[in-house]
Amino acid sequence: MPSGDLPSAPVAAAPAPAPAPALFAPHTGFTHEHFGFGTLAIHAGANPDPVTGAVIPALSLSTTFKQRAVGDFAYEYSRSANPNRDNLEAAIAALEHGTHGFAFSSGSATTATVLNILKPGAHIISVNDVYGGTHRYLSKVASSVGVDVSFVNLEDAGNLAAAITPNTQLVWIETPTNPTLKLVDIAAVSAIAHQHNLIVVVDNTFLSPYFQTPLDLGADLVVHSATKYINGHSDVVLGLAATKDDALAARIRFLQNAIGAIPSPFDCYQTQRGLKTLHLRMRQHGVNGQAVAEFLAAHEGVESVIYPGLASHPQHELAKRQQRGFGGMVAFRIRGDTHTADRFLQRTHLFTLAESLGGVESLSELPARMTHAGIPAEQREALGITDNLVRLSVGVEETADIIADLDQAIRSAVKDNYYHK
Ligand SMILES: *Cc1c(COP(=O)(O)O)cnc(C)c1O
Repeated sequence: MPSGDLPSAPVAAAPAPAPAPALFAPHTGFTHEHFGFGTLAIHAGANPDPVTGAVIPALSLSTTFKQRAVGDFAYEYSRSANPNRDNLEAAIAALEHGTHGFAFSSGSATTATVLNILKPGAHIISVNDVYGGTHRYLSKVASSVGVDVSFVNLEDAGNLAAAITPNTQLVWIETPTNPTLKLVDIAAVSAIAHQHNLIVVVDNTFLSPYFQTPLDLGADLVVHSATKYINGHSDVVLGLAATKDDALAARIRFLQNAIGAIPSPFDCYQTQRGLKTLHLRMRQHGVNGQAVAEFLAAHEGVESVIYPGLASHPQHELAKRQQRGFGGMVAFRIRGDTHTADRFLQRTHLFTLAESLGGVESLSELPARMTHAGIPAEQREALGITDNLVRLSVGVEETADIIADLDQAIRSAVKDNYYHK
């Protein structure tokens, strides 16, 4: 048509605009009923942007969102929900075999928020060998607002029943424990707890959902310091939780918004990026963890080794039943004292002397004087956290290089026992 020529008939009125797509809506079809772990890690909560087609959804930094009419919106305010956080929450829900996921600004913020589900005057039972920060929160923060806590050895699930009081509302488990890698039988504890209508929470940080899915074993809620294996690259502090209980989920969603300890969109994006290779990393952590444990068990410079994948571990059978692998955390007592351990820790080349765990790089530390220094000495001794107990977070470097490094550092540290007597 020549320019300037107008069509003789009026143009039909433009059709009413289609409702805007739910931008970034996490894909809901990716569940463990249909897909294996690695597929979920990569695809759950990771559908391409419906508008731009971007395979990796954009960072959504806006704190507020335009409403089409009052109350008509996909997102309202970024504390309540954010597209990047939604994506990460969809991913952890799928990986933990839950239906609701939650992200928080740290593992500790997850713990604090979750414990706000309790009513005043509540009593909690926690495994005695619990993460130091959780111990601190329970004994110094929760207790100051009227929550009563009992720390119980749950290596024998039968110890649970005797600790339950009429006010008990929740059981907090960590398995394997830190740093002595004791196991708690999640199914057995959940069965007893549910007879008393208690909520069972499992901190699954040490194994990640790749090796253990507590919701399948009867737990009500699973929590993570995603700072560790889930992000896996030692560059984000973040916490996650998942459940398949709708009522519990509604309560936690309310608290997440009301308390507001939420992660930034960037940290959510970064954690999801890490999580996409969780299966690849965990496989290698498991291979290296087993190799290191077997190597140390045969080493003359080593007094004892703790690793659930060794037949010598007192709960090896439970580990085989409840876990799909044994992970990358290994503890051992070096032949000598705390100075021997200190020399070992200084003389490794691949292992970095540092707190934290779960990253691709190997780390080592001395719990009695670092992560667990806050626990009174006699209590540490009772838990088996001796002054020569070294905790290794075995990374995903080449197995032979890791073992060679441990070998030279142990030999060098133990040899000097004679000079330091
Ligand atoms: C590190 C850790 C936490 C606390 O998580 P943050 O992200 O450091 O706040 C909780 N539980 C376990 C088992 C941990 O290792």
